[in-house]
Amino acid sequence: MTDGLIGEVVGGRSPLVAYFSMEIGLDPAMPTYAGGLGVLAGDSVRSAADLQIPMVAVTLLHRRGYFYQRLDEQGRQHEEPVAWPINDFCNPVRPRVTVELEDRTVHVGAWQYRVKGELGDEVPVYLLDTDLPENQPWDRTLTDRLYGGDDYYRLCQELVLGVGGFRMLRALGYGHLRRFHMNEGHAALLVLALLEEKLTSRSYEEGVPADLVDAVREQCVFTTHTPVPAGHDQFPQDLAHRVLGDRRCAWLKACGHDHSLNMTQLALSGSRFVNGVAMKHGEVSHSLFPGYPIHSITNGVHAVTWAAPAFQSLYDRRLPDWRRDQLSLRYAISIPDHEIWDAHSAAKRVLVEYVNRESNAGFDRDVLTIGFARRAAAYKRGTLIFHDLERLAKIAEQIGAVQIVFGGKAHPRDQEGKQIIHRIHELRDALRGKVRVAYLANYDMTLAKLLCAGVDVWLNTPLPPMEASGTSGMKAAVNGVPSLSVLDGWWVEGHVEGVTGWSIGDRIDTCLDPREGMDACHAVALYDKLEQSVLPCFYKDRERFLEIMRQSIALNGGFFNTQRMMAQYLHNAYRLVGEYVRRG
Ligand SMILES: *Cc1c(COP(=O)(O)O)cnc(C)c1O
Repeated sequence: MTDGLIGEVVGGRSPLVAYFSMEIGLDPAMPTYAGGLGVLAGDSVRSAADLQIPMVAVTLLHRRGYFYQRLDEQGRQHEEPVAWPINDFCNPVRPRVTVELEDRTVHVGAWQYRVKGELGDEVPVYLLDTDLPENQPWDRTLTDRLYGGDDYYRLCQELVLGVGGFRMLRALGYGHLRRFHMNEGHAALLVLALLEEKLTSRSYEEGVPADLVDAVREQCVFTTHTPVPAGHDQFPQDLAHRVLGDRRCAWLKACGHDHSLNMTQLALSGSRFVNGVAMKHGEVSHSLFPGYPIHSITNGVHAVTWAAPAFQSLYDRRLPDWRRDQLSLRYAISIPDHEIWDAHSAAKRVLVEYVNRESNAGFDRDVLTIGFARRAAAYKRGTLIFHDLERLAKIAEQIGAVQIVFGGKAHPRDQEGKQIIHRIHELRDALRGKVRVAYLANYDMTLAKLLCAGVDVWLNTPLPPMEASGTSGMKAAVNGVPSLSVLDGWWVEGHVEGVTGWSIGDRIDTCLDPREGMDACHAVALYDKLEQSVLPCFYKDRERFLEIMRQSIALNGGFFNTQRMMAQYLHNAYRLVGEYVRRG
């Protein structure tokens, strides 16, 4: 059983931290992620490898991906399955584990993907796979589709992730794991797996002894990503009984889960350290879940992954340590104007060519380009900038030309999200001849790299307090692109007016007054800012605009990266620093 040694061999040290996530964006060509959550997981693992953190990660294989988005002329979304060449990226590992599911035994295998860090260290990622001949046909599809299927499918997937993933790590020989990090509630059944392992040596008919629960809690860390109750995974009690069985439900009940199975509650009660993903989100989560101390560790992005080629070579020249030391982006204050402008112009040229090739929108390289791309979810308010078409057209005519590029997928069952995409297409047509608008299909990591780097201003208009963090504005910052955003999520921390970008609305958001229509209020604030600050700065005071670009890199790129973020997880959540340095 040489497979048992993988944990020891990879990276030369035995992992202490196991990171569990339903989605991880590992490679732009692997459709194993849906959006920001998966991209964050990928960036976290990439930074763990850079920082030589002894980590191993677990996710599902997602053989058929999330979906490929095709848009017709009217902007109607069509979803197509994605087939991807697993063998080109991953190697199968030998161990098999089983998970009891309803009255069946499901066999689980895994593939290994290796994330390489800047210093040559690796974080192994295991992608669980139930497409094995031992399994019944339906069970073979359990690791096919990310966020596909009904509640039953989802709960089965979460059981495979939490329990199957834990057993797989043990079967692979990871015996020294000290911390288990659940990235969002999807992985919460890991708590159950840890309990089960401890219970095997005792008679569990009498219930779960408190000291066992404490021992599990001591090892677990939970990051919550959703600021609204409806965003949290919940399963009806009868479904939980059907899938998990009476015995496991009895344990959960002993731990205080006797209504529906709420994955967030399970992760909360099973973790020693819980955090939200930005300062404000930590506070909001604390009021959602009173009784739990909830910390904040603000998200970041992996700067090397998100910097456009032109910025990569600029930083290689000017900030030679930046790949190893992403915090050194702070020293971007020393980069001369023309070098930033040249790198930006190169990134913008690539994007404008792509837009014109894909959409025939006739984008112009000299025109101020606004970008808006993220999941097409209602709270992100993708149509806010079109709230008053007349005013938008007038601003473009009188102050300076504007072109806007969009991207984003709607979840296959999110009719509201699909309607937003369709509506943006209608508004594009309504603005023809006044403001150029393009909607790019199949927003993914590759497209995000082009968009976040190639636009002049990154727009974000979430309905507060719904944006837990947001990370695309951070990708923009790493490329010197300032944000124009509602003060929610990370922007509460990243915004310095006229220095790192611009706010929509004030710090004490007067638009939150329910007597006002919030959309109308934020739209007016957006138009005012475009008219009075953004456009005049871009067209008439290029030097000032370049200073804002430089500060976006220095202040925001230098802080909102996953290297700083992982250091905070190490110090505050994992608390293993001394231990892993000694082992190293
Ligand atoms: C970064 C990223 C996101 C997250 O965007 P937000 O603005 O933070 O919601 C979503 N999808 C893809 C493909 C990304 O790269």
